[in-house]
Amino acid sequence: MKKIGLIGGMSWESTVEYYRIINEETNKRLGGLHSAKIIMYSFDFDEIEKFQSQGRWDSATDVMIEVAKRIEKAGAEIILICTNTMHKMFAQIEESVTIPVLHILDVTAEAIKSKEIKKVGLLGTKFTMEQEFYKERLKSAHGIEVIIPDAQDMEKVNKIIYEELCRGKIKESSKELLKQIIEGLVDEGAEGIVLGCTELPLLIKKEDSSVPIFDTCSLHAKKAVEISLET
Ligand code: GLU
Repeated sequence: MKKIGLIGGMSWESTVEYYRIINEETNKRLGGLHSAKIIMYSFDFDEIEKFQSQGRWDSATDVMIEVAKRIEKAGAEIILICTNTMHKMFAQIEESVTIPVLHILDVTAEAIKSKEIKKVGLLGTKFTMEQEFYKERLKSAHGIEVIIPDAQDMEKVNKIIYEELCRGKIKESSKELLKQIIEGLVDEGAEGIVLGCTELPLLIKKEDSSVPIFDTCSLHAKKAVEISLET
């Protein structure tokens, strides 16, 4: 069994899910008292959110690299960045360590392609929805077309993530709002919805959408277990 390194705390509400899913999945495969070997660093999300909102991406990259190196030094054999947004600096992190870093989107794209879906609607933080790093990888590396909500709706989704889900608040009114935004994307041609924020699955489940939902947190965590148990 390979030791799985987690760069977490962004926010801890979703890192808990990674921890739970990875252990449950390992136990499902191995049975008995088996659980996963995990090395985790959990950030104080307040520090990371400040870097993000102030556009200090270089500082954010520096701390992410420092932590990735520490996790490798501690014995991890594969690394997961437990947030979609912070895949913005994936290339720099990957370069800074000698162990593999499992890209959340490559795993998600695999699931999308297995359903022969060509066009998806994307929900995530405004950084993930607006900036190119995420949409571009889906397009150029995987040939999947991406549509996003309009500016107003993007603001609403972003607010739900940072002001509610990352603070452990689950609101029925926000769930209804997200369901409406999802159906708007479906009307525009989305054949699937990428929950491109690791907290969104806390609120949105597969029954909340008329098209398939891609839960990046769960897909990422389960793929890590598969790799960890490969012989
Ligand atoms: N966990 C979220 C994501 O998947 C948002 C928090 C962050 O900005 O890292 O993007």
